[in-house]
Amino acid sequence: MLEFEDIESKTIFRFYIVDAHHHLGADIDGHSNRNPVAPGGTFDFYVKVGKKLSKLFSDKPHIFRYSPHGFLNEFIRNNKKWKDTLNGSWAVDQVVVFPFNDEFKWRDGDEGKAIYWRSNDNIGRWVTRAPYSLRLIGFGRVVPTQRELAISELHRAVEQLGLRGLKLHPRSDGWSSDIASPEVKNVLVEAAKLNIPVLFDTRGFGQVMDILEVTKMARSELQSQNKALVENLKVIIAHIGFHLGQNELFEVLSHPNIYGDTSGVHDAGIPRLFEEAIQLLQPSLGRYRNWSEKILFGTDYNYFDVPHAVQFISFVLGNDFPGTSEDAQRILGSNLLKLVPPFKRETKSTLRKVHVSFELAELTEKTLAKQIADLVSSETYDLSGIDFFIDPHPKFQVRPQDFKITISRRENENCEDINLVVLSMLDILTIARLDNTLMNSSPIRNRILRYDDAASRRIFYKKLWPNRLENNPQEIYEFVKSITQTESSK
Ligand SMILES: [Zn+2]
Repeated sequence: MLEFEDIESKTIFRFYIVDAHHHLGADIDGHSNRNPVAPGGTFDFYVKVGKKLSKLFSDKPHIFRYSPHGFLNEFIRNNKKWKDTLNGSWAVDQVVVFPFNDEFKWRDGDEGKAIYWRSNDNIGRWVTRAPYSLRLIGFGRVVPTQRELAISELHRAVEQLGLRGLKLHPRSDGWSSDIASPEVKNVLVEAAKLNIPVLFDTRGFGQVMDILEVTKMARSELQSQNKALVENLKVIIAHIGFHLGQNELFEVLSHPNIYGDTSGVHDAGIPRLFEEAIQLLQPSLGRYRNWSEKILFGTDYNYFDVPHAVQFISFVLGNDFPGTSEDAQRILGSNLLKLVPPFKRETKSTLRKVHVSFELAELTEKTLAKQIADLVSSETYDLSGIDFFIDPHPKFQVRPQDFKITISRRENENCEDINLVVLSMLDILTIARLDNTLMNSSPIRNRILRYDDAASRRIFYKKLWPNRLENNPQEIYEFVKSITQTESSK
């Protein structure tokens, strides 16, 4: 998390940064990022970005720093290897990784399997084990013209591999002329049912218009099938900076289901993007939506490198940025988190919870961090994902003190997930193991915590409301130990 501390007033401003566009694997064009931990890999890239930002922000009247926040700090201090692996890379907190046009996306003998199934496996392996799972959010890739194969691969990627979005690349996968087609529409409809976003690469503005067209096709199909699914249709147009000068770009972005990523934009394009968004996008969004809800920071590493990322982040956090700090936080991270659902597979767990007072909160979190770290350091458990909550409209601040964490126990072919939530409400810390009902509740699904009485959220708070406080440290320890065990291993 990035922090600016005002030297005089000691006020701290925090920004949670998420890279919405980043590649992992090995492209047939020679670009590769096979191992995110290797020199020149993902984490090394963010180390360099952080160092450059520190330099840029060093002569200002505040202290600039970045570090893992709260629980993450607590968690990695239990394992020196994890701590060293991630050391210095915390200028960017999380990153969406997806396949290149991988040289291993399909091989002879793979007949009957979808193109990219190997790539999706590769992404799934990286993003669901510690310590990478603390940082990486995996998106899969399919070729929609493969029809049923593409659809079943999409389900496998989400439901079995734990991926949380989809990347489509019409040009490099050879279906540029089929974007506005029933095949692509079907993929979008299925992605909406799975509640995941779909990111399209774009070359040439014609593709952007085709994406608008197919999004409208998917929306009207969802409207006739089940209106509740319409809001789960989430389309991200990559490289919107490439299309500046096309005034229709902002009409496209005003569509309720469409967003844009900034990868590739640089130099004078950066201020121009924001000026035009304010001038041309805001009027068509009306009073209740904000231009900054539509724009997502992305690096496209390693097609673009450190200078682009540093230019972009430093502009958005600098004095010339024409928006507020809320606008900056949305663009740099909250928008992406809002589109990507928390890690979720079917769970067998029953609800269990404990509430402790403020004074015992720190000790309780330490106990939980150590317990999870010990389990995950052993062979049978993985840390599949950690998901932070955000504040509701209009603030969209990331709440690093409130999160859900998923650990998974593997036994032979079986994998059982344990979803734990940690929340601070009313000076009380709640730790709970979630059941299916709570996993499907709107605060978890949309990762937005809003303390109001809306029917959709009432179940959540009713179930998690404290009835008594536990104040015996030994009991807390026993509780934490017991909720991290799977039901079947008891
Ligand atoms: Zn890319």
